[in-house]
Amino acid sequence: MQMRNIHSQDKAVAALQQAYAQGRIPHAYLFVGPDGVGKYTTAKAFARLLLCRSPIQNPDRSGPVKADSCGRCPSCQLMDAGNHPDFVLIYKELLQYTEEGKDRDAPLEMPVDVIREFFIDRAARKPVMGPYTVFVIDEAEKVNDSSQNAMLKILEEPPSFCIIILLCSRLEEMLPTTRSRCRILSFGPVSETVIVGELTRKGMDASQALFWARFSEGRLGEALHWARLKESDKPVDAYEIKKELAERLCRLEPADLIDTAGWLIQSAKAVGDAWARQKPNVSTKDLFRTAEKGLLRMVLTLLADLMKIPYSEESSLVYSDQIELVRHLSKKINAEEAAEKIINIQKLLGWVDANVNEKLIFERLLLNWTFSDILPVRSDD
Ligand SMILES: [Zn+2]
Repeated sequence: MQMRNIHSQDKAVAALQQAYAQGRIPHAYLFVGPDGVGKYTTAKAFARLLLCRSPIQNPDRSGPVKADSCGRCPSCQLMDAGNHPDFVLIYKELLQYTEEGKDRDAPLEMPVDVIREFFIDRAARKPVMGPYTVFVIDEAEKVNDSSQNAMLKILEEPPSFCIIILLCSRLEEMLPTTRSRCRILSFGPVSETVIVGELTRKGMDASQALFWARFSEGRLGEALHWARLKESDKPVDAYEIKKELAERLCRLEPADLIDTAGWLIQSAKAVGDAWARQKPNVSTKDLFRTAEKGLLRMVLTLLADLMKIPYSEESSLVYSDQIELVRHLSKKINAEEAAEKIINIQKLLGWVDANVNEKLIFERLLLNWTFSDILPVRSDD
């Protein structure tokens, strides 16, 4: 990927190209923004430029100098093949490749052993091929305080050949000492038009693409994550799951609770398993949790539409593709009830992170859907 092909993050890309053109590249960057808006893609494209043997200086021949990687030199080819010796991607699942971590379960936080072995030890060695070693630390918000302190020495006095890029979705989780040593670049949500364009280019039907664009709230990576389930060797159609989920909720009776909860567990498992086949390096538990949260968010988005329908254009709703169903539900569930159910789902999303059993979570979701927690107002009060 070249810098010029990143269409959704113009400001961040321009800042990186300018730093490169001026020869004033900070040793540490902190890319901040929601998951799936292109932080990793941009970091990788920038690393490809930094490591490129014959960078292009002004591919557009107009406007400010826009440096970019060539895509043809041995370094660019190694980057594209995913085995450049001077590009180090650090993520928590690397634990299984450390001395201490063999056969240990995938952790929730970034283990200090990973930071020590893949970052601190590695930063002491010179690059193999080029002028730099580029470190990209994914989910930097999961590096706990003691690991951040262990990293501090390198962030304070980085060897001249080290460029460190921390990717983070929650800046408040980073210690002030870490933040102050990095150049911070913000990554905003990607526009609906760009996401729909990307998905339809991959052959997706326009109304499905629009659903995923709105559902992902500008996180292109998330929209692609759901869309790619269809490309798996055992394809899973997440769009059909969301449609069926809305239909099941629309006609849900107390007698269906157990059966529907079972269907939700199976659907989350199918989605999680398909992602696991596509991303063998990522913790299967994390992927299952992401799938569970995705299904909960599908319900939350539907409820948010119910709150919006009285004063919004129907075509602007997330579920505009199932508008008859939204209209029907809005007669059964009023705005106050929808708000109460949304609060319940937000609580359940926290339960997923706290590792609460999925059966309990989905049953609680459906119980709350069927029987509101709001106490009826007695007419004689
Ligand atoms: Zn090159």
